[in-house]
Amino acid sequence: MAEQPRLLKGLDPEQRTAVTAPRGPVCVLAGAGTGKTRTITHRIAHLVERGLVVPQQVLAVTFTARAAGEMRTRLRALGAPGVQAQTFHAAAFRQLRYFWPRVLEGQMWPLTDNKFRIVMQAANRLGLSTEKESVRDLAAEIEWSKASLIGPDQYPAAAARAGRSAPVAPEQIGRAFTTYEKLKNHAQVLDFDDLLLHTAAVLEEHAEVAEEFRARYRSFVVDEYQDVNPLQQRVLDAWLGGRDDLTVVGDANQTIYSFAGAAPTWLIGFSRRFPEATVVRLERDYRSTPQVVSLANAVIDAARSRPAGTRLRLTGQRADGPDPQFAEHDDESAEAEAVVRRIAALVQQGTALSEIAVLFRVNAQSEVYEKALSDADIPYQVRGGERFFARAEVRQAMTALRNAAARDDSASGDDLPTLVRAVLSEVGLTTEPPAGGSARERWESLNALVELAAELAETVQQPDFARYVTELEMRAEAQHPPTVEGVTLASLHAAKGLEWDAVFLVGLVEGTLPIQHADGDDAAIEEERRLLYVGVTRAREHLHLSWALSRASGGRRHRKRSRFVHGLVPDGHPAALPGTTTPRARESKPKQTVKPRCRICATPLASTMDIKLGRCSSCPSDADEDLLSQLRSWRSERARQLKVPAYVVFTD
Ligand code: ATP
Ligand code: MG
Repeated sequence: MAEQPRLLKGLDPEQRTAVTAPRGPVCVLAGAGTGKTRTITHRIAHLVERGLVVPQQVLAVTFTARAAGEMRTRLRALGAPGVQAQTFHAAAFRQLRYFWPRVLEGQMWPLTDNKFRIVMQAANRLGLSTEKESVRDLAAEIEWSKASLIGPDQYPAAAARAGRSAPVAPEQIGRAFTTYEKLKNHAQVLDFDDLLLHTAAVLEEHAEVAEEFRARYRSFVVDEYQDVNPLQQRVLDAWLGGRDDLTVVGDANQTIYSFAGAAPTWLIGFSRRFPEATVVRLERDYRSTPQVVSLANAVIDAARSRPAGTRLRLTGQRADGPDPQFAEHDDESAEAEAVVRRIAALVQQGTALSEIAVLFRVNAQSEVYEKALSDADIPYQVRGGERFFARAEVRQAMTALRNAAARDDSASGDDLPTLVRAVLSEVGLTTEPPAGGSARERWESLNALVELAAELAETVQQPDFARYVTELEMRAEAQHPPTVEGVTLASLHAAKGLEWDAVFLVGLVEGTLPIQHADGDDAAIEEERRLLYVGVTRAREHLHLSWALSRASGGRRHRKRSRFVHGLVPDGHPAALPGTTTPRARESKPKQTVKPRCRICATPLASTMDIKLGRCSSCPSDADEDLLSQLRSWRSERARQLKVPAYVVFTD
């Protein structure tokens, strides 16, 4: 038999179908961890290797800077450097900057460094509340309108149709939107959505620009297509200009941006739009252990409504691993300390720091983990939050880099990383990292800026200093910090598409996940459930879910375990070991009571003693390790058949 081409090795038959499909529309509809991102990178590399596309003519877009960075790294490793893998915004920024002087006057307007302030000014002018919360809500509504291609006049009707719960009268929001646009235009600055709006408009209205663009980019790939919004779809259509060389991959069960206007409609309707498309479904989960896959299936099976095309069932391909663990704590600090103790234990057992993530619903939850990790001297990085760019050393570094770019004293002939390192040595970057503690953390942040320069030097054609500073400004605006070695702290939104060996899902309480404002809104609750699904499916091996019954130590225990945990961890299970309490049955109103099951053979437990021991009388005690490990694989198979996730409730 002829040897398989290099790029088809390590792919299953369905993945291979998508990789080898001829240029033209291709859609991969599949669950988390089934290799969608792997499939598209192999497809691009395969087309390049076969000489069917030129790398520079491919534009691959995804939703986070880190995902784009990872795609570039994967493509380089597969022998396809030079492919543009960008976020929608970064791609639009680059195109608009290039075309702006030709179709509009002068240089492209800069991105506003404080959109919030402009919204506040607009609110102030109209006599609306300028409280932080109200302004934030107003900004979110303006953003939703722009992402949904809805103008200020259309806002009231559209908001009513979409069931938006507006903070003030819809007519007022429409007026605030108009005023915001006027103020922004007057200041000659752009917001992020303007990048996309202007890019689409330039391509739609200037035939010669569109022609030049379309001669340059011929093949398009979109990862995480379930989260495309109407504005991004319009840009994509403008890029395509009636052509159909488009590969999309996505998982409707991972739609987590519908509050901001995204919809899986385009993913699900792809084959209607392109009837000749190659459509592939993947169901083998290569990322996670069967235990994690089983829990993920249980989370998403509980969804109230699932559109057609989303009922894919994942089957785990990896060897058995540890059971997902659940823990309940008295307060948030106790939860964070317990999580950090487990992180330290994992590190001691050989898990790399970069293979561990703590994921939460809202960025404010990060603080208590930052403190606990700092106290334990464990390096970490915060992703999807403003903290990286708010750090004193990063702010100092940005000023030094901006000044160097303005002086333009970078012409010396050194490569970009060397230039950046030289400037950062002025603000204290040493060649070797300091031993530990806060000095090490500062070093890691500054070094991440050098790493970013190295990444840029490999991926853009003219990696000059000005380009680097612009990239940095964009990242600061979008709060996409570069990679720092350490435990990742990230919001669930920022974690999509990524994976770690060990994942800690924390703060699983009512009001946080699901978030308070989703209460009473079925669609919003379902989106919160999908967020949990995204979180669960990030774990390769170790998965740990936790919650705390009060915020502060000694505080009133008024927090309730998230309704989503119900059914995953059996009510009444004896978790009452030191430091935790038993999960309470009264917290949510179960439609169906889950009986405690034997954690070895998954049979429902009847006697109080069995429930206390967590196993039935026919199964061996924990001491019998050998037998236990044999039984473990049988049990997870059995659990799969019974459609109950394997579980263990532990405490430290
Ligand atoms: P998500 O929905 O979370 O974005 P995905 O479908 O994009 O997930 P990938 O990130 O591409 O999944 O793949 C998940 C993991 O499985 C990666 O570590 C990838 O290398 C691995 N993988 C994918 N396909 C295979 C395969 N055929 N054989 C072995 N490993 C695979
Ligand atoms: Mg992916």
